[in-house]
Amino acid sequence: MTFYKRIWKFIIKDVKNDNETKRASVIMRLFSLIICVYFALQIVMMGIGREWEGVIAGAVCFAGYMVAFYLTYQNRTRAAIMYTMLSTLAWVVLFIFLFGWDCGAQHFLFVLLIFFFVVSHASTKRKLCMVSILLMLRLILFGYTRENAPIIKLSETTTFFMQIINTVTIFALMTAIIMLFCQESLEMEWKLVVYNAKLREASRRDPLTKLFNRRAMVEYMEEQVDKLNRYGNWFNVAIGDIDFFKKVNDTYGHEAGDAVLIHVADLLSEYMKNKGCVGRWGGEEFLLVFKDINGEEAFIELEKIRSMVERMKVPYKDEEISVTMTFGLDEYNNNKPIDDTINSADQKLYIGKNTGRNKVIF
Ligand code: GH3
Ligand code: MG
Ligand code: MG
Repeated sequence: MTFYKRIWKFIIKDVKNDNETKRASVIMRLFSLIICVYFALQIVMMGIGREWEGVIAGAVCFAGYMVAFYLTYQNRTRAAIMYTMLSTLAWVVLFIFLFGWDCGAQHFLFVLLIFFFVVSHASTKRKLCMVSILLMLRLILFGYTRENAPIIKLSETTTFFMQIINTVTIFALMTAIIMLFCQESLEMEWKLVVYNAKLREASRRDPLTKLFNRRAMVEYMEEQVDKLNRYGNWFNVAIGDIDFFKKVNDTYGHEAGDAVLIHVADLLSEYMKNKGCVGRWGGEEFLLVFKDINGEEAFIELEKIRSMVERMKVPYKDEEISVTMTFGLDEYNNNKPIDDTINSADQKLYIGKNTGRNKVIF
C-alpha cells in the first residue's frame, strides 16, 4: 500500500457508514491536518526569521489542532467541530492583534464559514447567525487595524512568505472541504437512486419464483390496454393453474412443492421472453399476457407451453416430479374492463379443471 493510501485509510477510519456525522469527521480530520501542516511551516518560517512570538503562537495552534484531530477518533466529532470553530476564531483574532492585517489570518474566516455550513447540524437560522458574527468580526478587525499598529512588526520577508503559505493553505482547505462535501452528496444521491430502483423492483416481484407479482401484472395489463387504445395492439390473457398441486405437497413435502413452482416459473418466463409477460397470480396460479397476437395464435402458444410442462421433470432429492397444468384463455376486448377478461379466463380455467385438466380452454 502506498504512503498516501495509508494516510487516506487512516483519515477515513471508522467512517464507512454513510451518514452526516461520519462525513463531518472526515472533513474535520482533513481540516485539522492541513492546518497543522500550515502551522508547522509557519513555525519553521518564523524560526528562520527569528520571530519567536510567532514560533510560540504557531506551536500552540499546532497542538490545538492536533487535539481536534484526536477528538474525531474518540467519536466526539461535534465537540471537535465546536472546539475547532472557537480555536480558529481565537487564533485569527490573536494573529491580527499581534501581527496586523498584513499577516492575512483574516482570510481564514471565509474558510471557517464554509466549514461551518458543511459540517454543522445547526439550523439555518443559527448558521445565518454565524455568518453575521463572522462578518462583524472581520469588519471590526479591519477597523481596528486601521487605527492601531500591530503589537509585533513582522519583517517584510516573513510577511511575504506568510501571505504565500496562507493563500496555499486557504485554497487547500476550501478544495478539501468542497470536494468531500460534493463527492459524498453525489454518492449518497446515487445510492438513493439505486436503492429506490431496488425497492421498486422488490415490490413488483414474487420472492419465491422471482416472477412479477399480481400488482406488477395488473400494471402491465393496464399498459397493454393503453397501447391498444393508442395503437390498436391486441393482447390475450391466460391463467394457468398446476393440477393437483396439493398432492405434490402432500406426497413430497412443501419444499418439493416450492421446487416445482420455481421450475414451472422458469419454464414460463423463458418461453414468454419477447412474447409478452408472465407473473405469479396466486399460490400455484400464473397469469400470462400474450402481446400482438390474436386468440387463436395465443391458443397455439399455450398448447406448446402445456405440453412442455407435461414433459418437464423436476428433480427433487432422489425423485423426479412431474406435473400438468390447465389454462383458461381470453382475448382482451377493449369495450370491456380488463377485469372481465381476467374473469373470463378464470372461468375457462374452471371449465378445464372440471373436464379432465391438462388442457387449454379458449
Ligand atoms: P387443482 O387441480 O384443482 O388446481 O388442485 P390443486 O391441488 O392444485 O388445488 P388446491 O387449490 O386444492 O391446492 C393448491 C395448493 O397449493 C394448496 C397450497 O398449499 C399450495 N400452495 C400454494 N402456494 C404454495 C407455495 O408457495 N408453495 C407450496 N409448496 N405450496 C403452495
Ligand atoms: Mg391447482
Ligand atoms: Mg389454484
